[in-house]
Amino acid sequence: MVEDYLKEDKGFTPRDVMEEASRCLLCLDAPCSANCPAGTDPGKFIRSVRFKNVEGAAETVRENNILAGICARVCPTEKYCELACSRTGIDKPINISMIQRYITDYESCTHMSVLKKAKANGKKVAVIGAGPAGLTAAGNLALRGFEVTVYEKESKAGGYLRYGIPEYRLPNKVVDEEVKRIEDLGVKFVFNTKVETSKLLDELKKSNDAVILALGFSKGKMLEMFEDNKKVKLAVDFLKQVKEKKGKVRVPESAVVVGGGDVAMDVALTLKKLGCQNVTDCAYEQFSEFRASKKELEHTREAGVTILDGYVPEKVTKSGQVTFAHRVIKSKVVIKAPLIVLAVGQVSDFSNLGIELKDLSDPSYRIKNTNVFYAGDIVPGDKTVVYSVKTGKEVTKAVMSYLKMEVK
Ligand SMILES: Cc1cc2nc3c(=O)[nH]c(=O)nc-3n(C[C@H](O)[C@H](O)[C@H](O)COP(=O)(O)OP(=O)(O)OC[C@H]3O[C@@H](n4cnc5c(N)ncnc54)[C@H](O)[C@@H]3O)c2cc1C
Ligand code: SF4
Repeated sequence: MVEDYLKEDKGFTPRDVMEEASRCLLCLDAPCSANCPAGTDPGKFIRSVRFKNVEGAAETVRENNILAGICARVCPTEKYCELACSRTGIDKPINISMIQRYITDYESCTHMSVLKKAKANGKKVAVIGAGPAGLTAAGNLALRGFEVTVYEKESKAGGYLRYGIPEYRLPNKVVDEEVKRIEDLGVKFVFNTKVETSKLLDELKKSNDAVILALGFSKGKMLEMFEDNKKVKLAVDFLKQVKEKKGKVRVPESAVVVGGGDVAMDVALTLKKLGCQNVTDCAYEQFSEFRASKKELEHTREAGVTILDGYVPEKVTKSGQVTFAHRVIKSKVVIKAPLIVLAVGQVSDFSNLGIELKDLSDPSYRIKNTNVFYAGDIVPGDKTVVYSVKTGKEVTKAVMSYLKMEVK
């Protein structure tokens, strides 16, 4: 049960990886490389692996993405690099995440240290939020000589990497290792510090050359009919509690999950792994329009979670009886469970800073006429780790060009 939750997917043997790499067509202008938001170059690192140069491959991967070990585990590659892979026309795409996972595991086992601390450039930046966007920006700035301080409201760094994505998909020891690489570049972390007033933000603006907001969407969304219902939990709160308690959480015999994205799949599978016998997931989307990644959906179904697609909650009683109605056909389902978990999205939590989401849509990553920048989920675009890495890298360049520095 708890062991099931804590058990990570096993890694890959050199043989598995060499076999997979040998299927690669080593394409010129590799389409996989053009389709990674973070600019990862699978074409190049697979070529290195083919020639048994795993160290070279690790350099290629890490120099581009400071969170490469994390991305190797959680990136929905079927939507990005693998979607574009030319090998699909012959049989199936190259399993790029498998190869990247092998490379970053090798880097970790052999204690390779690809990134080097830079000489100070005299400029100071404050980053608010230590999720993947804040971590990427902080690391990339430190690599260019900035003095960087990250302010984080939780007691550890990682954002949803640490407090959301379940341990069996992303162990916290991997997050710790990647954060340590960033600390080793000289980035300072100030934990248990919520920057929650515009006065505090103003102080940071004055004492730094630039401030980067990487606040994410840290609150789960509530639906009105479920408010104050004692049987209801928000998905991100549930997953955080399970991860913090390393799986030592009691779950009931049955539960209902509302939602059809990856977060809903994580909740349903976590419940199953912790011993909940009957887990039903009711999703607004029909299977043809599902938002959850194919991998996650398949794992959840294989674990025995019942998925009802196309259903929306209509009413709920205090005793936990939910009536769902189908969006298209005339059908109603009534399910009673001692636990209902809502996985219907996340929302922002920064209105006290005097900033609204609409202020954060300029492609320059900068709030007009200020030295305040932004990155990650709060930027319009995909809500994925790799997209946060992309914005974390791009905001670094935006800060440098604002400070009239040569952008490298
Ligand atoms: C359960 C779950 C599973 C997911 N699975 C995947 C997956 O498999 N693959 C994938 O690519 N994406 C996945 N995602 C999405 C991914 O985690 C997010 O897109 C990503 O974490 C966004 O990064 P971020 O840095 O913008 O925000 P976050 O990760 O939300 O980090 C924001 C950080 O800012 C801190 N913070 C917020 N406000 C303040 C404040 N005022 N002062 C100080 N600190 C503050 C928060 O505590 C947090 O640490 C998942 C999300 C969830 C919830
Ligand atoms: S597109 Fe596919 S086959 Fe071509 S280089 Fe990339 S991984 Fe190899």
